[in-house]
Amino acid sequence: MPNKIQKNKAIQEKYASFNCLHYIDGEYIASINDTTFDNINPVTKDVIGKVANGRKADVDRAIAVAKKAKNGPWKTMPLNERSKIIRKIGDLILENLEILAELESLDTGKPFSLAKSLDIPRAAYNFHFFADYMISTSQESFQQDDVALHYAVRKPVGVVGLINPWNLPLLLMTWKLAPALAAGNTVVMKPSEVTPMTATFIADLCTQAGVPKGVVNLVHGFGEAGAALSESKDVDAIAFTGETLTGTAIMQASAPSLKKLSFELGGKNPNVIFASANMEEAIETSIRSSFLNQGEVCLCGSRVYVHEAVYDEFVNGLVEKTKNLKIGDPFEEETFVGAVVSEEHYNKVLSYLEIAKEDGGTFLTGGQKNSDYDGYFINPTIITGLTKDSRCVREEIFGPVITIIPFATDEEILEQINDTSYGLAATIWTSDLRQAHTIAAKIETGIVWVNTWFLRDLRTPFGGMKSSGIGREGGAHSIDFYTELTNITIKL
Ligand code: NAD
Repeated sequence: MPNKIQKNKAIQEKYASFNCLHYIDGEYIASINDTTFDNINPVTKDVIGKVANGRKADVDRAIAVAKKAKNGPWKTMPLNERSKIIRKIGDLILENLEILAELESLDTGKPFSLAKSLDIPRAAYNFHFFADYMISTSQESFQQDDVALHYAVRKPVGVVGLINPWNLPLLLMTWKLAPALAAGNTVVMKPSEVTPMTATFIADLCTQAGVPKGVVNLVHGFGEAGAALSESKDVDAIAFTGETLTGTAIMQASAPSLKKLSFELGGKNPNVIFASANMEEAIETSIRSSFLNQGEVCLCGSRVYVHEAVYDEFVNGLVEKTKNLKIGDPFEEETFVGAVVSEEHYNKVLSYLEIAKEDGGTFLTGGQKNSDYDGYFINPTIITGLTKDSRCVREEIFGPVITIIPFATDEEILEQINDTSYGLAATIWTSDLRQAHTIAAKIETGIVWVNTWFLRDLRTPFGGMKSSGIGREGGAHSIDFYTELTNITIKL
């Protein structure tokens, strides 16, 4: 083991006995058939612990508990009281910030500093935000002349399945869990098999905060566990974040029981640098939008387009800064790029680097694994010279890899931006106000950032169009998904 990752190794030893069990009816329990699988640290390739392998029978057990609890005290509790408990979960997450950030970094390979400054505080904020938001939500009411008064009341949907990916495990799980609970639902969480630790930890925090037993349940496992949630007639809604193909499978499995579905899926997001861009800011932020979290953020701008007038200035600046990024032990303070999440994902990302070579791409940085370390480290990679038809430009790589293509006109770039089956997010850099508004309005994505990236306000709609998702989350959109409306008409 190279000395360079001593800190990660020490943290791994600290959690040597951290095994991930299911959490059902307020108890941590093993699988019915007692089988487990290994949780691998992507930095050391060591086994960190065992994870209970949830099969259909385990999922059905959790669903039965959630179903029994759905008409219990959590639903009927005064809103103010429920809100205090939701807020308390956020407080407990912050009280355990250090532990949760360590677990998240160990599980994903992401820098500890990032987990501590972004993933975990945002997870806490999801609860604080929805604790307040639910209380201030009003209901629709319509006076129909002197004929009738109509008003709509909100009710929880019932049992909600929360199926999540590995890239921002706690942040994304709580982005669903907080509004689902705030609206009075019971849940069965299914975290990614690759990153089970923080979900395991917070399940009991919910009980400690005062959530009644049976309301928050958790089952670990692979696709089979997620599929059992989708198929069940006792699950009323599924909120899913993950790959587009998995979304298709969930939709098919859910069809016979006609569930409510919310999908946040893959992306291949453009990052466009126009000639009038503030170059310093564009380069600085493009470093983050390209390589933050090893490029494993669904919102990363992996297709970079630069106007030919500023192409050399932007590309040279980006390459220089990329070369200075610190890659290595996620527990070293200066580390910006950690390990990618798993062997399978590492091989997938490296296979795209081979495709780039075959397609005649030029690597301005990176282009290979990082051989200073044994773990799944890939050097931040900037590729030029590819055409718009290369698979590296069209398909989601989800690693520290970007392609750069020059452009000349607004019409040309707009066509390239929208020439994709994805539609999650886009970033444009320009000082021309007219250009910003005109282009932004024509981009086919759920989110457009102008002169910034990853700037979120939890009240705003979040989600993708085309193959990047169905529905929106955030503020009123989340409440709409996690509640059912009954319209009541009083004849006057
Ligand atoms: P994935 O689709 O492979 O897995 C996500 C979850 O689905 C896991 O818990 C997995 O066990 C489960 N699953 C697998 N097969 C299933 C099935 N047949 N039925 C039900 N559940 C099943 O995705 P991933 O590799 O974990 O995550 C990466 C993907 O997530 C990328 O495509 C990324 O763009 C996407 N993502 C999107 C957003 C967004 O907001 N749009 C955010 C983060 C990640």
